[in-house]
Amino acid sequence: MRPEVLFTSEEIKREVARLAHEISRDYRGRSPLLVGILKGSFVFLADLIRMMDIPVEVDFVILSSYGSGTESSGEVKVIHGLEQSIEGKDVIIVEDIVDSGITLSHFMDDLSTRNPASLRLCVLVDKTARREKDIQIDYMGMQVHDEFVVGYGIDCDEQYRYLPDICQVKD
Ligand code: 5GP
Repeated sequence: MRPEVLFTSEEIKREVARLAHEISRDYRGRSPLLVGILKGSFVFLADLIRMMDIPVEVDFVILSSYGSGTESSGEVKVIHGLEQSIEGKDVIIVEDIVDSGITLSHFMDDLSTRNPASLRLCVLVDKTARREKDIQIDYMGMQVHDEFVVGYGIDCDEQYRYLPDICQVKD
């Protein structure tokens, strides 16, 4: 598979700065807990928090919805959960990509039963073509239609995470 650039590192930087600005503005005076969904969100989350100008806490979860292919299996498993209680906290989930929405809708349903003060969603890439679950994205970076993307922390079978751009891979 050959990667083809969809969003350059400069374009990504601009979008991440915009999201960081919006979140900082909306949570001024508070210290939200950012929950990154591993592994794909680690580069995005690392850049995002360094462009914000409010204090934040960070935690990570590992969820599994895709096997080793490019289609969602429809099954969501928690491989590694949160290390702290979210009761009374302002929680922002940070995800690399929303595709069908199945992964996030399961995870958000689970978190909302744990009494956070608020729960919002920040997504770098909104992939619109195959949405099955209606989920509200509060902070959204870029949109793609149905392209399978890699780079900027996002993999395909553990390859391509190191690429600075977001690229499309085709068979
Ligand atoms: P969903 O449950 O929304 O269908 O799938 C979301 C998960 O699938 C995300 O965590 C993301 O890591 C992965 N995913 C969805 N679309 C893509 C894609 O285009 N490329 C890669 N590498 N992963 C994707």
